[in-house]
Amino acid sequence: MKHIPRKRFGQNFLTDHGIIDSIVAAIDPKPGQPLVEIGPGLMALTQPLVERTGQLTVIELDRDLAARLRSKPQLRVIESDVLKVDFTALAAELGAPKLRIAGNLPYNISSPILFHLLEHVDVVQDQHFMLQKEVIDRMVADAGSSDYGRLSVMLQWRYAMENVLFVPPESFDPPPKVNSAVVRMVPRAQPAALNPQLLEDLVRVAFSQRRKILRNTLGKWLEDQGFAGSFDLQRRAEEVPVAEYEALAAQLSQKES
Ligand code: SAM
Repeated sequence: MKHIPRKRFGQNFLTDHGIIDSIVAAIDPKPGQPLVEIGPGLMALTQPLVERTGQLTVIELDRDLAARLRSKPQLRVIESDVLKVDFTALAAELGAPKLRIAGNLPYNISSPILFHLLEHVDVVQDQHFMLQKEVIDRMVADAGSSDYGRLSVMLQWRYAMENVLFVPPESFDPPPKVNSAVVRMVPRAQPAALNPQLLEDLVRVAFSQRRKILRNTLGKWLEDQGFAGSFDLQRRAEEVPVAEYEALAAQLSQKES
């Protein structure tokens, strides 16, 4: 029976075989690898992925789609909201020290998914996600660019990332209103030792008024934290490189412990 795409679940199904092949080539799955796909939908990526790995864990929220997926014996189907999945527990269940994660994500909740996975980064080998191109531009942006912001700092602190493929709307049915792209995210082997919550608070305050000089925003916050070190506050948030935010959060984290 034909599935009617559900807008509330961000259902835009990939139909372009050239694009599907390119995404699978970018993931480069190997037999036996513990691969997890988020939002398999009508299996555009699922089928070629499972042909290569032999088995695959899939997470799908749509009840009707999950029922179809369960008819495939090589798939382990988790019918759930991905935001409720404990990936650390899943890795343990699969007996895998690290998971490979991939998916053409529902765009309406892409940032919450990225932040949810950040909490499980220790059990992740790599992530390949199709997202709205504008979101990937923000993820990989360098300091000084108008795309640089909270998402750039919070993700670049923990992952090396690259935009690996451009995907136009006509590659989907129904076509989304925006351009898409595929990002590769590989957790950094030796991230700065810091309290992620402190980095998040600091970055939120810094970018709360991105056009203002930091003295007026972050300066006040640092004073409240009792920060006595040196940090050039005569800049705007978008001018400060990730490494400097990391160093500042690391200093504050040390002071805290
Ligand atoms: N992978 C398919 C493809 O490329 O054609 C479908 C991609 S579609 C953009 C997003 C998929 O994620 C849909 O199958 C949708 O039902 C599913 N989905 C939406 N919200 C979800 C959630 N919170 N948790 C898990 N899956 C979700």
